[in-house]
Amino acid sequence: MINRRKTKPIRIGNVIVGGNAPVVVQSMTKTDTRDVKATLRQIDQLEDAGCEIVRVAVPDMEAASALAEIKKCARLPLIADIHFDYRLALVVIKNGIDGLRLNPGNIGGREKVTRVVRAAIKKQVPIRIGVNAGSLPADIDKSLPAADRMVAALMREIELVESLGFDLIKASLKAFDVPTTIEAYQKASALIDYPLHLGITEAGTPPEGVIRSTAGLAPLLYEGIGDTIRVSLTAPPIEEVETAWEILKSLNLRSRGPVIISCPTCGRTEIDVRGIAAEVRQRLAACPKVLKVAVMGCAVNGPGEARDADIGIAGGKGRAVLFSRGEKIKTIDEADILTELLAEIDRFRG
Ligand code: SF4
Repeated sequence: MINRRKTKPIRIGNVIVGGNAPVVVQSMTKTDTRDVKATLRQIDQLEDAGCEIVRVAVPDMEAASALAEIKKCARLPLIADIHFDYRLALVVIKNGIDGLRLNPGNIGGREKVTRVVRAAIKKQVPIRIGVNAGSLPADIDKSLPAADRMVAALMREIELVESLGFDLIKASLKAFDVPTTIEAYQKASALIDYPLHLGITEAGTPPEGVIRSTAGLAPLLYEGIGDTIRVSLTAPPIEEVETAWEILKSLNLRSRGPVIISCPTCGRTEIDVRGIAAEVRQRLAACPKVLKVAVMGCAVNGPGEARDADIGIAGGKGRAVLFSRGEKIKTIDEADILTELLAEIDRFRG
């Protein structure tokens, strides 16, 4: 049982982040934001995959204007990602953005920060203060360990906006190095009660990026740390969302769609476990209903797992036993296993 750390809730569009809210899945569009059509298409795809908040890069004024159009049509809450130019933040706030991601320290001094923070307070727009190990301020004490340098940078940014009366804050401390990231989040969560957005930055391509992200996010989530997550992959953003959901499902933090339990196969395997599991996975890829399906190769662990799942099969010589809701339904010939299993899944789905 995971005891989630209590954080101060904020609202990003219609999504609550922190407090008692479930861990929220985030991703980022990878289109040119100025291409409104392509960006909206990708936001729709992300929504279908289970994304709950989308960040959009705003590199210039043209992108800021395009974001106003995108905001009018997108159903998901949008966060504008802004660096260096405070005027971009003012424009997107004026145009109704749901959240900002910026570092107050890199938008040009207290006066400009004050203008952004005042606008954010007026429209109640939360700001994610995102510290990245690769771009820490030059004057942070270099003798400190990396995680401490990140926390020091974060606290400085937070103190700056707090001094302006702002507290709609979400924080992140991302690094490529997993132990550094874990340590930074652990230290920050002991110091602040703002919601934390978790991520391993620049994690790379799948499968390494998936593994690196999982290695970094899972220990923190298991400790109850983290209110939103993003898996950063050099891959289509849908894969980021799918990975994030699998991490949350594996920790029993969230439920969505199918969970497929299948044995690794071995010398005792008597049916085509790999083929059946792959087919079931593909058929259920877009299924939003929460259900557990077990595909097991023999009588060693098969009946136990198949009984524990909503629907399962346990292989035997040239046949398999089909289970549904913990009950043995029938014995099926090998040639009919897939058809019968899929039919039972359809009945379960209603
Ligand atoms: Fe092997 Fe049976 Fe275990 Fe599958 S369930 S890995 S076939 S022992």
